[in-house]
Amino acid sequence: MNTQLPHVVIVGGGISGLAAAWFLTQGPNGPRASVTVLEAADHFGGKLRTTEFGGLTVDVGAESMLATRPEAVNLCREVGLETVPAATTQAAIYSRGRMRAIPRGLLTGVPTDLRKLAASGIVSLPGLLRVPLDHVLPRTVLHADVSVGDYVTTRLGAEVTARLVEPMLGGVYAGRSENLSLQMTVPALYRAASQRRSALEAARSVLEDGKKTMGPRKGPIFVGLEGGVGRLPGALVTGLRERGAQVRTSAVVQQVRSRANRWDVVVGDGRGKYVTYTADAVLFATPAPVTASLLETANGSAADELRAIEYADVAVVTLGYPASEARLLHGSGFLVPPVEGRSVKGVTYSSSKWSWVSQGARSAAPDGLVILRASLGRAGDPITAQMSDTELARTAADDIHGLIGLPRRPALQHVQRWETGLPQYNVGHRTRVADTREWLLNTPGLAVCGAAYEGVGIAACIGSAQAAVSTVLQQLAERREWAHG
Ligand SMILES: Cc1cc2nc3c(=O)[nH]c(=O)nc-3n(C[C@H](O)[C@H](O)[C@H](O)COP(=O)(O)OP(=O)(O)OC[C@H]3O[C@@H](n4cnc5c(N)ncnc54)[C@H](O)[C@@H]3O)c2cc1C
Repeated sequence: MNTQLPHVVIVGGGISGLAAAWFLTQGPNGPRASVTVLEAADHFGGKLRTTEFGGLTVDVGAESMLATRPEAVNLCREVGLETVPAATTQAAIYSRGRMRAIPRGLLTGVPTDLRKLAASGIVSLPGLLRVPLDHVLPRTVLHADVSVGDYVTTRLGAEVTARLVEPMLGGVYAGRSENLSLQMTVPALYRAASQRRSALEAARSVLEDGKKTMGPRKGPIFVGLEGGVGRLPGALVTGLRERGAQVRTSAVVQQVRSRANRWDVVVGDGRGKYVTYTADAVLFATPAPVTASLLETANGSAADELRAIEYADVAVVTLGYPASEARLLHGSGFLVPPVEGRSVKGVTYSSSKWSWVSQGARSAAPDGLVILRASLGRAGDPITAQMSDTELARTAADDIHGLIGLPRRPALQHVQRWETGLPQYNVGHRTRVADTREWLLNTPGLAVCGAAYEGVGIAACIGSAQAAVSTVLQQLAERREWAHG
């Protein structure tokens, strides 16, 4: 360990913690800190994870990365991984009894082109006729935050919320539109809606502004990695070890307490053995409930804010069917609005979406496979807690059978549960995050990053790690003990 540098302990070795370690261990003038990453599980990566399935490796957590912002693509490049575009991104929504292609011109489900919406058939005629009322209804005053569901239902009617917005939010947040914050989940719409009466016009202005500022889009919106996005943590860990960072798994952080301007981080191995690391700064990259309990002694007010963040438990069921069934798959997959009364909320046709999966699956024994991935679980829905793995797999397969006609029983199946899978950005989340950061100013040397704050996606998590690293380095520099690169 380099004693000339401040020692920063990072709690949590998911993408946020590993990215923070990456940014700390290399600056323009060399390493900025000596770093220890402590991960409770026996593997790194958190919600980025692969498993062996039918002879190939597939993602059972996150599977794609946003390429319209730079963080994830850049980080992959830095660790020597080449991103690949999806082979198809044309998804459908199962609505009113059949699959319907998602029309262009939606902003998180909010339509901007009524002709395309009508042609899609996702919304019924009465639902469609309700939409233009948006132009004559009195302005919706957005005093503070509002839920996406309340705003969209008021402006465009309940059917647009139920059949378009709900499945889109379900896909990203595993949340419910009546709770999720407009300010956090569709911030550009929140800003535009504060200035315009019509939601349709507000959404249209957001899409047009996006086109103007970014120009004609070059390249894909989402990218993946051959072999799975779950390879990224491994590549980061290899790079971190080469840079001299200490990276430990099976290291459950139990307590963080202050001692003479520094922090003692107490770690258990789960078998009664404890080690204490002394750090100049501690960066928490753990889910909010864990961060809350670890912050309790040092900063009870920040802990209270974090404890209030709700999480959705979700599950990913990977299913393999004989390759001959590929004829039933069109596009990249589909979303299912809760109003349709199914358990799956979305299905990705992995072997259609990713060329590397299709190549691997074709050669899977005995006659090749098609691979699908079904998502189940939503905030407040006990399905994943109540069902066994076998029941979850059967439920997913039954829904897929009912919706697209694949055989009732797949050839292969795998269930991955994600407890505290996705934080819920409920109404007021932005204020809660701002308050947490404000409270943390009382305990310089403690910072937070990760999915619980300003975005759940991989790119946003990496962005939050970058921001937390800047905060920590600035605080350390203010103590004037270290000049950093
Ligand atoms: C099923 C699913 C699919 C998703 N799909 C996508 C997608 O396709 N694209 C996308 O961009 N995003 C996706 N996301 C979101 C994204 O994957 C996550 O938000 C992101 O990976 C979270 O990273 P993180 O590092 O902040 O947290 P986590 O991944 O939760 O990592 C936190 C780490 O802290 C560790 N930890 C917990 N307690 C302790 C402790 N006491 N001591 C030490 N370590 C501890 C945990 O073991 C874990 O490894 C998906 C999420 C889920 C659940």
